[in-house]
Amino acid sequence: MGSNDTSLIETLRKIADAANMAIDGNGNGARDDSDSDSSDESGATSASRLDVGCTVRQLPGRLLQSAAHTASIVNPANAPMYLPASYLPHKGVLDPLAIALLTSKYWGPAGRRLTVSFMEPTTRNLRDRILSHMNAWSAKTCMSFVYTSGIGDVRISREPGGYWSYIGTDVLHIPKNRQTMNLEGFTMNTQDSEFYRVVRHETGHTLGFMHEHMRDALVKRIDPQKAYAYFWQNDRWDKATVDQQVLTPLDEKSLMATPPDQTSIMCYQLPGSITRDGKPILGGTDINATDYAFAARLYPKKGASEADGAAATAMAPASLDGGSAGDGDWDASEDVEVTL
Ligand SMILES: [Zn+2]
Repeated sequence: MGSNDTSLIETLRKIADAANMAIDGNGNGARDDSDSDSSDESGATSASRLDVGCTVRQLPGRLLQSAAHTASIVNPANAPMYLPASYLPHKGVLDPLAIALLTSKYWGPAGRRLTVSFMEPTTRNLRDRILSHMNAWSAKTCMSFVYTSGIGDVRISREPGGYWSYIGTDVLHIPKNRQTMNLEGFTMNTQDSEFYRVVRHETGHTLGFMHEHMRDALVKRIDPQKAYAYFWQNDRWDKATVDQQVLTPLDEKSLMATPPDQTSIMCYQLPGSITRDGKPILGGTDINATDYAFAARLYPKKGASEADGAAATAMAPASLDGGSAGDGDWDASEDVEVTL
């Protein structure tokens, strides 16, 4: 009990620290610039842009608490841990917003068939191709995706803005006239490897998974100064955005029961030019066996299993993923009332 407790306390402290940092406002406003900047890459070829990073989208701050509530209704295992006061860093209580930030976003273990629609006219071939890669996850899980000509739970746009997705149950809070996932420039001419690498990765976010490259062991390999220069040059990310998207490690023990895995589909490749040892972080090119095993524990294929409990407590705190700031993305009048 002793050493486990100590590491638990240490973990909880780190989570609370990170949550406090997040709600201290370290994080808003950085992304909007890079969104608009991405359109000035007129000279760029449309060949596959392997170095396009994925940004994790976060809801506007005003919605964080209701989104946490939604997540805990959809999947009670998402409810945050309430920490004994003595574990907390500064104050005796966690701000409700901090608690919201600590809530994970997984859909329940009972499984769901999420409907998928497209924001732009999209040929049947392309729809089928994208859906087939989304459904790669359903090979080992109880989650699946089905096309609808109406308004889907998951809404995909191929407009400029890079590759991104909202996380898990947060998609329920996105106004229906907006996409929940962006796959910039995907067409039938896009290389097959990009469907594996990008569509499966973004679908992982829709299932509630975070970035594997933000695992502590991988973040430690990155040289911050080189990373700032690199991401500014490639993605026009400012320092705060790089801090959020690349350099803030997810908490280890609260996250996954798997070792950090640079070939996870949830890990994007990072070049050797920004690591301390000069070796690249490889990045996943397809869902690997560890990804499947983890997904299958969270979303067991047939009903509940003994593994559920363990997986359900190994949750990622959504905050620490440091998603892009969402304030101002849409007017509060468009906020979705989620009734479950
Ligand atoms: Zn991503």
